Amino acid sequence: MADCIFCKIADKDIPSKTVYEDDEIIAFHDLEPQAPVHVLIIPKKHIASLDDLADDDGELIAHLMLKIKEIAKDLNLEKGYRLVNNCGEDGLQTVKHLHFHLLGKRKMTWPPG
Ligand code: 5GP
Repeated sequence: MADCIFCKIADKDIPSKTVYEDDEIIAFHDLEPQAPVHVLIIPKKHIASLDDLADDDGELIAHLMLKIKEIAKDLNLEKGYRLVNNCGEDGLQTVKHLHFHLLGKRKMTWPPG
């Protein structure tokens, strides 16, 4: 999508510190990290939010989720991590392209703010 910042990252129109990429997904460091490790994992295909997933996106999302486990291992998050998806207005989603935050290398708190 023309004015989507994460589509531009996926297309390499905007640089990012990429940690993993294949034909379907890309993972890159967040610009404003909220933990020592803070990576965003996105589908390259523009999907606005979790709410906008279509029935035939199942394979893509399963692929993305399975890769998160590998990315966490590559980033040495053996002590654990948190995976976050902010969806919609109340979820405080600011970028309208589906993404999952992978946060690690610090002790998390609960409940999240
Ligand atoms: P949201 O609030 O939508 O769940 O998260 C959006 C995330 O994208 C934020 O953590 C923000 O720091 C990150 N972000 C926004 N613009 C950019 C960018 O241009 N590059 C990178 N690497 N991260 C970005």
